[in-house]
Amino acid sequence: MAKLTVEDLQLEGKKVLMRVDFNVPIKDGVVGDDNRIVAALPTINYVLDHGGRAVLFSHLGRIKSEDDKPGLSMKPVAAKLEERLGKPVQFVPATEGTELETAIDQLENGQVLVFENTRYEDVVNGEYVKRESGNDPKLGEYWASLGDVFVNDAFGTAHRSHASNVGVATAMKANGKQAAAGFLMEKEIKFLGNAVDNPVHPFVAILGGAKVSDKIGVIDHLLNKADKVIVGGGMTYTFYAAKGIKIGNSLVEEDKIDVAKEIMAKAGDKLVLPVDSVEADKFANDADTKVIEGDIDDGYMALDIGPKSVAEFKNVLKDAKTVVWNGPMGVFEMSNFAKGTLEVGEFLGTLTDATTIVGGGDSTAAAKQLGISDKLTHISTGGGASLEYLEGKTLPGIAAISDK
Ligand code: AMP
Repeated sequence: MAKLTVEDLQLEGKKVLMRVDFNVPIKDGVVGDDNRIVAALPTINYVLDHGGRAVLFSHLGRIKSEDDKPGLSMKPVAAKLEERLGKPVQFVPATEGTELETAIDQLENGQVLVFENTRYEDVVNGEYVKRESGNDPKLGEYWASLGDVFVNDAFGTAHRSHASNVGVATAMKANGKQAAAGFLMEKEIKFLGNAVDNPVHPFVAILGGAKVSDKIGVIDHLLNKADKVIVGGGMTYTFYAAKGIKIGNSLVEEDKIDVAKEIMAKAGDKLVLPVDSVEADKFANDADTKVIEGDIDDGYMALDIGPKSVAEFKNVLKDAKTVVWNGPMGVFEMSNFAKGTLEVGEFLGTLTDATTIVGGGDSTAAAKQLGISDKLTHISTGGGASLEYLEGKTLPGIAAISDK
């Protein structure tokens, strides 16, 4: 079902509630990587340029006690937004009450305010009550009462049912008001949604990372949709164990070996596993290493895919028209085990005829390290949310947006 977007809204003179994802790294009151703030600018600018009065809110970190609050205030985030937006941004140090309500009422067309971290509502009078992250309907109704329309641009939290996304949207709709997707959200729905539900074939998924348990749902769902599912990274060795290949000290989830067997039986030749590995005598960059096919030696652990696997993966990928990549092929944080991930990433950057979609923090970091981000079609901003999308789950934050 197509969702309403910010472009469908009448914004002139409207109080526009905007759920953004400003969950940025923050240390000693200083914002680190401000990518998420920059990513939200197109939607914010669109609202302001169309005469909206923008009321921005986001969660920031986790708040479990009053002590967590001072270090996780949105104040520095609002200052960073002001810098990036090149316009004054008013910060209101409250999540409810007269000060906030008055500030919103006094906004003029084209002006913007940011209110305090929505998760401040998780702790009330010193008690951890999770009003925001438990989606207390009264909180969603209250926030909804502050505006005329709602725009959700926070894809990263779309897999969570919180008051600031699902609660507000639900209450807006109950009051006959609209809840729309911002540009970032729209883009995620378009690319991830199309890749999974309506892919141009051949569709190849590359899944890596440490744990089978985190990705079973994705592997399972994509086996129904994709032409090939390539598995790499630490997950490989649970599959190796299931095949009776020796794994030495490699990462393994003993309790997932049966699941791996089931997946392999179902997948047949759709599932592509590495044929060789870079094995190491310890989990360290200065380990003694060897490239090995099949069985991993006793006393060694496999920390990257080997060159034959890279060549085979490229061969599978070369004709793909849709590619989804989530998770590294090895312990790419250590330079000696980064090759598999970087070579696969680099190859994706050359597939200019294909729709290439990258999700998850590690694959995104690898794409950035390679400088290929602008050669990929789409880099998903939501780790957990994009995984759940790829699992075929309904994301509550998206479901709550008004249908067209
Ligand atoms: P995930 O969060 O499940 O996507 O896993 C990412 C992590 O998997 C990264 O920190 C990698 O270092 C780790 N990883 C990838 N390959 C391996 C491997 N062969 N052995 C151990 N850890 C791995």
